[in-house]
Amino acid sequence: MGTVFITSEKSSIEKDLFSYENQGGYKAWRKVLTGPAEDIIDEIEESGLTGKGGAGFPVYKKWRLLTSQKDNKRYVVINGSEHEPGSVKDKYLLEKYPHKVLEGALITAYAVHASEVIIAINEESVQSIASLENALVEVTSAGYLDQSGINVTVRRVPDKYIVGEESALLEVLEGREPYPRKKPPFPIEQGLFNHPTLIQNVETVAHIPFIINHGPEAYRNLGINKQGVTLCTLGEEFNYPGVYEVPLGTSIRTILYGLGGGLKNGKDIKAIQPGGPSAGFLTQNQFDLPLDAEVLREHQSALGCAAIKAFSVDDCMVQEIEKITGFFAHGSCGQCPECRMETNMFHTFIKQVCQGQGNWKLLGKIDDILDMVQGKGICGLIKMPVAPVKTGLELFHDEFCRHIEEKNCSVCFGESN
Ligand code: SF4
Repeated sequence: MGTVFITSEKSSIEKDLFSYENQGGYKAWRKVLTGPAEDIIDEIEESGLTGKGGAGFPVYKKWRLLTSQKDNKRYVVINGSEHEPGSVKDKYLLEKYPHKVLEGALITAYAVHASEVIIAINEESVQSIASLENALVEVTSAGYLDQSGINVTVRRVPDKYIVGEESALLEVLEGREPYPRKKPPFPIEQGLFNHPTLIQNVETVAHIPFIINHGPEAYRNLGINKQGVTLCTLGEEFNYPGVYEVPLGTSIRTILYGLGGGLKNGKDIKAIQPGGPSAGFLTQNQFDLPLDAEVLREHQSALGCAAIKAFSVDDCMVQEIEKITGFFAHGSCGQCPECRMETNMFHTFIKQVCQGQGNWKLLGKIDDILDMVQGKGICGLIKMPVAPVKTGLELFHDEFCRHIEEKNCSVCFGESN
């Protein structure tokens, strides 16, 4: 798998403490310890860093919200559960650059006056866990945690999609099943064991040492749109799959063909989802758009965790949408009747189309269902199938026609049709 690392300054693996220190590792940690914690939050605000787990929320806002809480017992939870299909960036970071994640986590905890850091990792990511645990032993023995008052622990969490939801993750860390919590209160107010809790994605904290070492402006300037960089995962369908550090604002075409080298099967790319299965589809005439969260939102898509999935001209998009809706129907925790109903009905409708038993009347009910579930659901999963279904129906109307009217799809019905 092709890989390029975060912050563009170094490309070598920094797995052990010695090699990390040789690349300037823990310089940022030593630097922040000599100044007021509040300055760090200012720098993060100026850098424009946003969360890399999917929601893209400005990092400094969460940090300020946490520091405004009266309860002095605060937690920082680093979310390394990474269940988004196609995304391996966090796994890669934890495996190859565990100290960068640790250093970012320590700076985060110091900035928000948190005494406990919990790094939650998908239990299936065995190498990530081993690598981070080893790094934690190294950093502790080297005395980096001395006098910081910060305790760091590594926790394994189940390999289930819903565990990535912040409050479901907290439930797991408290020893329960991963059922998202009703909000408010939000985790930042009342999170782990009812204490204020900041939850940040693994990649998000890995950007922090660079910002502290080089300053917020240097970080912003790494991006074509002055918004820094992001890690992008290109799937196995590409000639050069891997995790790439990409300046935000880079054109999607450059990523797909310049970095990814196009598709392995030599076919043209018909469409992509730039941010995991909940992102709306983009087609060829949109590939010159920049990788920019706001621009993608304007096009009914999303940057999400930047796991880019490409579909070739030979793929049946109805079948692909069926897989996506099936994924969300399966991923729903089932707590909310509206979510159960919506995710299952979407999947059933599209599956029927794939099987040649669908009709337009049935698909017309999708909007009614969306009206019914408007504002419902304890967590965001209820909204996740909406963009791929809606953009899919719009962009691949002719393919739906072939299934519903002509019963003609070589992928779903075989060549003879
Ligand atoms: Fe579970 Fe869906 Fe409700 Fe979220 S919206 S809590 S996934 S049932």
